[in-house]
Amino acid sequence: GRGAAIVTALALRLAEQRREVEQLLSPLRLSRSDLQRVQALMRQEMELGLGKETSARSSVRMLPTYVRATPDGTERGEFLALDLGGTNFRVLVVRVAENSIRMASEIYVIPTSIIQGTGVALFNHIVECIMDFQLKQDLMEQILPLGFTFSFPCQQLGLDKAVLLNWTKGFSASGCVGQDVVQLLRDAAQRKEHFALNVVAVVNDTVGTMMSCGYDDPKCEIGLIVGTGTNACYMEEMRNVGTVEGNDGHMCINMEWGAFGDNGCLDHIFTTFDQMVDENTINPGKQRFEKLISGMYLGEIVRYILLAMVEKQVLFRGKPCPKLQTKDIFQTKFLSTIEIDGLALRKVLAILWDLDLHASFEDSVLVREVCQTVSLRAAQLCAAGMAAVVEKMRENRGLDQLDVTVGVDGTLYKMHPQGSARGGRGLPQSRALGTATTATAITPIKCFSPHLCLLGAHGEGLGAA
Ligand code: BGC
Ligand code: MG
Repeated sequence: GRGAAIVTALALRLAEQRREVEQLLSPLRLSRSDLQRVQALMRQEMELGLGKETSARSSVRMLPTYVRATPDGTERGEFLALDLGGTNFRVLVVRVAENSIRMASEIYVIPTSIIQGTGVALFNHIVECIMDFQLKQDLMEQILPLGFTFSFPCQQLGLDKAVLLNWTKGFSASGCVGQDVVQLLRDAAQRKEHFALNVVAVVNDTVGTMMSCGYDDPKCEIGLIVGTGTNACYMEEMRNVGTVEGNDGHMCINMEWGAFGDNGCLDHIFTTFDQMVDENTINPGKQRFEKLISGMYLGEIVRYILLAMVEKQVLFRGKPCPKLQTKDIFQTKFLSTIEIDGLALRKVLAILWDLDLHASFEDSVLVREVCQTVSLRAAQLCAAGMAAVVEKMRENRGLDQLDVTVGVDGTLYKMHPQGSARGGRGLPQSRALGTATTATAITPIKCFSPHLCLLGAHGEGLGAA
């Protein structure tokens, strides 16, 4: 009868919708062999980047850091530290004593107008923040050594000399590329008549993370950032570093893996959504791997998928949704919340309505699926990259099995429910790291400070990857 006809029509409509959804999402679902290919390509780019003659051809820069050893735990003292290039700009004072590490820090907002303004204004602002911090912490009279965590690609010319190669993550302050950022900081201090600044080192955030984890765990020889941007560093054998004289010992290599694929080697992975995200950044064609993985871009990928779903009339009943045209409406926080295991659907619904997206229950199920698909791909790509690094280290050392710790930091890693929170041995089954491409048991082993989590990666059967 008529009832049956309606039910059949509905079922057909649902099946049709499901097909549309699958068609849109399938390019984002990577198979095991896709990921193995990514791992192999990363390895190939690493080798190119390390070679004296080939390094210009690699999309992965493999920058020498002149850091030749990880800490041995006996380091002591009181330091100032700057952290520029993540979600927040921070100034810190760190006191390392026999049995304790204490720190105090302050977050300062850097307005977009300064981030994308002139270098002079940017570094003036940084020095003003340092002075404010020193006043607040009663540190005006002391000249403490200052470490500068500067999270952008730099050609390191010494521990306290680093030439900015290019900006990433939405920064574009003029007059900085090609300059030594320590000198830019010293110049600004001069302008502000702040004569008590003693910059002793400049490091990438990956290196800073590896070193601070290494302070307490000698096995920590890899640093990984999954935050606003993404990148990794690791200890390489000097004999493999063709770009630096000498064959003895080790050197930490800042991979700058965010740029992996900028030479076209990942083109088969990019979807139309990734293309749209890339085209609407201030650095199109650059940092292509980063734009698949890090917090600054995941929400945008989700947004473009949702727009396509509205277009195909499988979301919001096909009603045009002007709010969805707004760039960056989905922040990292949004993805992280929406994917919390067992979060009630009405909470997802509430989040969407808060954003002025008038979703139904069915819509919120779909939005959650999109978020999960995008962040699963990000985690798997990151894992494929990490597998390439760990495999190279294992081979370097001629081992069947490598026992190494990865120091991890970054807002996305810390906030995402599948990033760090799933503790213990559960992680290999979870989606954060290592699952698709390695049989590595990656275990979060301790939290060193609120902003520093450690992963212990025990390379069991990596060769099978
Ligand atoms: C930068 C890296 C940095 C990473 C994580 C990337 O955009 O190029 O130097 O380590 O972001 O902050
Ligand atoms: Mg950071």
